[in-house]
Amino acid sequence: MTNYRITLLGTGTSIGIPVPGCRCRVCRSKDRRNRRSRSSALIEAAGKRILIDTSPEFRLQALAAGINSLDAVFWTHGHADHLHGLDDLRALTWKKPLPGYASKETADEITTRFDYLWKNTQPGGGKANVDLISIAPDESVEIGSLKVIPIPVIHGSLPVFGWRCGPVAYITDASEIPEESYALLEDLKILVVGALRFKAHSTHFTVERALEEIKKIRPERAYLTHISHEVSHRQLVRATPRTVSPGRDGLCLRTTE
Ligand SMILES: [Zn+2]
Ligand SMILES: [Zn+2]
Ligand SMILES: [Zn+2]
Repeated sequence: MTNYRITLLGTGTSIGIPVPGCRCRVCRSKDRRNRRSRSSALIEAAGKRILIDTSPEFRLQALAAGINSLDAVFWTHGHADHLHGLDDLRALTWKKPLPGYASKETADEITTRFDYLWKNTQPGGGKANVDLISIAPDESVEIGSLKVIPIPVIHGSLPVFGWRCGPVAYITDASEIPEESYALLEDLKILVVGALRFKAHSTHFTVERALEEIKKIRPERAYLTHISHEVSHRQLVRATPRTVSPGRDGLCLRTTE
């Protein structure tokens, strides 16, 4: 039996909550659960620690979660809110390169945007030492005894990945799950899925759509992430059934397989 621990490092949409300059009730709320850094997650199991996405707040998230080492990083896609904390992997990659997995499209984006990582530059300062590996949608990755598989999903018109590791799946930015991907989501104990807000959006599930997907996928428990300032934590608690909860930064979930 393997114990799995998943920590929601960040649960906010791309702009982060509170939104600078915004005076709405969620941004002004004193409820800590309404403070949401950019979405990312940590999965720990079988002596390995894997990170999903390097959010712009990765350094603060790593300090809050006490992350002192990583065995791999998996990117869902190349949008800034999921990628731009990559530099802060520096402190965790001084001793050895960290394998980083992404789709071919995302890996190409990372190589373009962070081109200096792979260029000869003057010594000093140091750079994040990432061994970037592109993964086809039907490939899987082994990290020790853990198997990690990509879950192809659609984010607006962009094909992106969710990731599954054992009984846990993480799908953040998505507006559609292709029919073939449901077979990869069977027998889940924990599903983390993006749910932006109640109002329709062209590239993200609404709360209602996320709940429909959860009903179809039937995990034991589900948690919502990538949440905007248009919904409060309390509103989400009221809008979700017993087996579904809104995520919040730092929430730590445990399961076994
Ligand atoms: Zn995003
Ligand atoms: Zn606001
Ligand atoms: Zn995105």
